Amino acid sequence: MTGNSVTMSGAWRRTARGAGLLAEDGSVAPSIFAEMSALALRTNAINLGQGFPDEDGPALVLEAARRAISDGVNQYPPGRGQPVLLDAISRHQQRFYGLTVDPGSEVLVTAGATEALAATILALIEPGDEVVTFEPFYDAYGGLIGLGGGIHRTVPLRAPDFQPDLDALRAAVTDRTRLIIVNDPHNPTGAVFPLATLELIVELAHRYDAIIVTDEVYEHLTFGAPHIPIATLPGAWERTVTISSGGKTFSLTGWKVGWLSAPAAIVTAILAVKQFLTYVNAAPFQPAIAVGLDLPDAYFAGIAADMQRKRDVLATGLQASGFDISMPQGSYFIVADATPLGFTDGAELCRRLPELAGVVAVPIAAFCSPAHRAEYAALVRFAYCKKVKLLEQASTQLEALSRA
Ligand code: PMP
Ligand code: GLN
Repeated sequence: MTGNSVTMSGAWRRTARGAGLLAEDGSVAPSIFAEMSALALRTNAINLGQGFPDEDGPALVLEAARRAISDGVNQYPPGRGQPVLLDAISRHQQRFYGLTVDPGSEVLVTAGATEALAATILALIEPGDEVVTFEPFYDAYGGLIGLGGGIHRTVPLRAPDFQPDLDALRAAVTDRTRLIIVNDPHNPTGAVFPLATLELIVELAHRYDAIIVTDEVYEHLTFGAPHIPIATLPGAWERTVTISSGGKTFSLTGWKVGWLSAPAAIVTAILAVKQFLTYVNAAPFQPAIAVGLDLPDAYFAGIAADMQRKRDVLATGLQASGFDISMPQGSYFIVADATPLGFTDGAELCRRLPELAGVVAVPIAAFCSPAHRAEYAALVRFAYCKKVKLLEQASTQLEALSRA
């Protein structure tokens, strides 16, 4: 692991909240995604680890950003976001989900979904509050709950379908729960929650007066049933913060334009934190993402169909190479069990995969709390948001594993 070494006095180590995120030796461990991308670069392996597309988003959106820069949209935008983007987010929620969201008070533009998550969690929990997530979970959830002083409770998602046991969900939510964080479609498993699970989450949030935070960055990447935002369920909107981002929908992960929608009072509380995080970001990219959100329905259907094809190519390749796979219903990740190939330690397999097959993946254990890693040890995640040719090449190379 190649951490950036930080020299720390003992006092700083005791007082910095972030110290909880440092390794024993005081170094900053890179995220699993950064670590695996660096490994891919070093070994010239095909990078199916960190989830980022290898093609840029729609030409119209790219052109709109160039135009905005030329037109001088280069200074601080308004704190809540540029009106043109706030309006486009509101129209998007209405067009796809029938949600009526007031652009002036119920929407906030953020530096990616990550800042939306950070500001929401920091604004809505007090130290000692419990936050429920599903597990495996996107790594930022654990870090941010820790930064907010919260206590992280998890509900396991188990192979092969990675759906939660509803009694385990009932048991995890109590009157100590402040937030229930949902990620649907789910990273890293590709699971999509059925209506009954979403309904139970709303019921529990009501019973225990919790707020639902739903991370829907893969909202347009489902392969079958259309995405159901939990905020559309009866009684949900009033206690739900819905988060998304332009990164996945427009293949523009580096632009870091995200947003959230929620009732006005909740948005205001989150804005109070957000203004001291980034304040604002991405002035010329905001009107460009607005252009993207107004693209015709065919664009959104097209990206789902395209991603489904890529999923199928990689799924076939992984199975032919001897992995057991769980077929994802959404997102752009697929979980593969390496046990049939004789590997029970996914982290070790991921370290050796460049040398064995010229491919990089990430271990599912990196999405788990230390206490639960063992259960997921043999699982690895592959990203398929890549050109079909590259996925075919990776599949051919992975066949070497069954001969290893
Ligand atoms: N949530 C999930 C589930 C993700 O997979 C990601 C990363 N792609 C993010 C949030 C972060 O999104 P952004 O890059 O917009 O901050
Ligand atoms: N969300 C991306 C993934 O899961 C990576 C984001 C990051 O590098 N932090 O691969």
